[in-house]
Formats: sequence, structure tokens, C-alpha cells
Amino acid sequence: MLDFFYPDFYFEKFDEVTVEFLKANNISALLLDLDNTLAPYEMSEPDEKILAYLSDLSKNGIRFAFISNNSSDKRINLFNKKIGAPAFAKAGKPFAKKTINRALSTLGVSKENAAFLGDQIFTDVCAGKFNGIRAILVPPIKDKKNLFFKFKRALEKPVLKRYFRKNKR
Ligand SMILES: [Mg+2]
Repeated sequence: MLDFFYPDFYFEKFDEVTVEFLKANNISALLLDLDNTLAPYEMSEPDEKILAYLSDLSKNGIRFAFISNNSSDKRINLFNKKIGAPAFAKAGKPFAKKTINRALSTLGVSKENAAFLGDQIFTDVCAGKFNGIRAILVPPIKDKKNLFFKFKRALEKPVLKRYFRKNKR
């Protein structure tokens, strides 16, 4: 049960999740969280770094889709305009079963060859693990400084601590 909360992999930044790493782990599709994983909330369009990273994935046959909990698809559609990936808002992570299945069938990739990449344990990691998909965690680029987020981070700390104990590096 607790394993639902533990990411399979942890990186400091999204672009450390390299093509080499993905290939070595048989991951041919990434389900991507947007906010605080790829970009801070206030970045409405992708910068060069993000575009370069995603185009490197594409060139190497790694497919990807955006899976966001945003209540409207405005944010994701604007961000995705130059990218043109399959994009889903209102996903309802951590459950998101329907959305994840739709995304994977759009990408033509099975669960075994996919991974969820996100910055939140109780949303992104669980969305992967509840649906039988490996999870890659990165720390949030920039946290919203409100009480709710502080509370969530405090809850996440013991989980991360255990992760690092289990995976001494
Ligand atoms: Mg996020």
C-alpha cells in the first residue's frame, strides 16, 4: 500500500531525465505534469530549454502527453501551442484512470513502457502508481506559498526521507 507513494526514480530537474535514462529503463512515453514540473505557474509559454528538451525526446522516439489537474484547459492549450502534444486538463490526479488510458492509447504505448513525471507525490506519483505506471519525481520548480501547499509539503517529507533511505546513493 505504502508503495503507492514512492517514486521509482528521483531527479533534481526534468531535463536530468535524459533519453539515455529513459531508453535504459524501457520508457518510450512520458506522461508529463506541467506546473512546477516543466515550468513555474507564471510561465505561460515554454522557454527554449523546455522546447529543446521535448524536441530531443521526440527526435529519439520518446512520446509524451501533458496530464494536468488544471480546472480549465486554457493554460495547457496555450503552453502546448508550439508543442502540439496530446494534452489533457481536469485529469483528476491522483486517480485519472480514464485520462491516463486515453493518453496512452493516443500515444500508442502500453503502461509497462510509460512513466509519469511530476513534482507532487500525492498527485503525480500516486497517479502513476495507482494506474500501474512507474513514477519519476522532481522537486517543484517554485512552490505556491500558501498554507495548503505548505501542509502538503510537510506530509511529503517523511515519504521522501524513506525513499532516500531505501535508495542510498
Ligand atoms: Mg505540478
